[in-house]
Amino acid sequence: MFTNFGLTLMVNHACNLRCTYCYTGSKFQRRMDLGTAKKAIDRAIASITDDGTIELGFFGGEPLVESGLILQLLDYVSLCAEKKSIRIVANITTNGTIVHEEAWQVMTHPHIFVAISCDGLPEVHDSCRITVDGKGTSSIVIATIQKLLAAQREFRVVMVVRPNNLSSVAKGIEYLFGLGVKQADLSLDLWTKWGRKDSLPLQAMIKECAQVWRKKLPTCGVNWFDEKTIKYAQIPTNKTARCSFGNGEIAVSPAGNLYPCERLIGEDSELNAMRMPGHVMDGKDNFLPQEQQNESCHEECRGCSIQSLCSTSCQCSNYIRTGKTREPDLLLCMVNKLCMEETLKALKTLT
Ligand code: SF4
Ligand code: SF4
Ligand code: SF4
Repeated sequence: MFTNFGLTLMVNHACNLRCTYCYTGSKFQRRMDLGTAKKAIDRAIASITDDGTIELGFFGGEPLVESGLILQLLDYVSLCAEKKSIRIVANITTNGTIVHEEAWQVMTHPHIFVAISCDGLPEVHDSCRITVDGKGTSSIVIATIQKLLAAQREFRVVMVVRPNNLSSVAKGIEYLFGLGVKQADLSLDLWTKWGRKDSLPLQAMIKECAQVWRKKLPTCGVNWFDEKTIKYAQIPTNKTARCSFGNGEIAVSPAGNLYPCERLIGEDSELNAMRMPGHVMDGKDNFLPQEQQNESCHEECRGCSIQSLCSTSCQCSNYIRTGKTREPDLLLCMVNKLCMEETLKALKTLT
């Protein structure tokens, strides 16, 4: 049994946007039916000890396409969790462009933590995050951010970092902080090609972002530097199911297929090597593992002096870059080392 269990439901492959760098595959209507979703929740709850925690995520496509279903599931999980005194931590990542009443109810639900995708400066956002007819979406996303701020909701903004926007990331964070956003999470585009020529601009970008982060401490945060500070200062954090990767954490596709992480579902093709054996409806009552996997860390990381501070434990990131879940590539290693370096430099100026 697990004390924390992560369950992410991909509620549909459909999305109202067509972002140029989307990694979840083609967009088509395949909705997760209520029975499949409830069964996934039942099995997750049955895998958790009394007084444990379920970390329930909603993913897509655009998950708010299924706002009604999500509201039903939030009610359902509350009922199931109550019987075992299980705590619920729910989260959703949305593109912030679906704003009808039910979507707003999801975004302001007491159990849910919201992440909004926004690439910072409007012109940068509009160059990639576009509607089906190619129109930029920054004005509507910013309006959603402002509405959440006015409602005094805590939320974070996820910004994608790509080779072609490196020079504007720090300005983008400043712009968001200027609006009142408190937490910016940088997300490296792992699916694109990064070349040698990107190395210096990437280095400069990390330096600039660390400076913006330093200036806004302690009111605002940027995940890449917050994480390093937490590790360096050995600040205790709540235990989380991420990244248990199939062993304490399961992602379910709309068709009920199982994956170790939602970022690997894509179009849920039969040929997807990351699809796990089994199916939500295969007659089992829980998600307890049949056998434990004990993979050791990557050979080249063993002698690394900052291994305990390294954040390359995201197994899907490693898989996407190298095809091996325990093997980070040079890009991930470099970003990690640079973030460590810039965080320490920034922290020294605080003393
Ligand atoms: S909003 Fe998300 S799922 Fe939709 S196209 Fe953009 S990145 Fe893909
Ligand atoms: S593989 Fe990465 S994205 Fe997926 S749960 Fe683990 S840490 Fe998170
Ligand atoms: S990925 Fe790089 S920084 Fe991290 S432990 Fe390995 S060698 Fe060290």
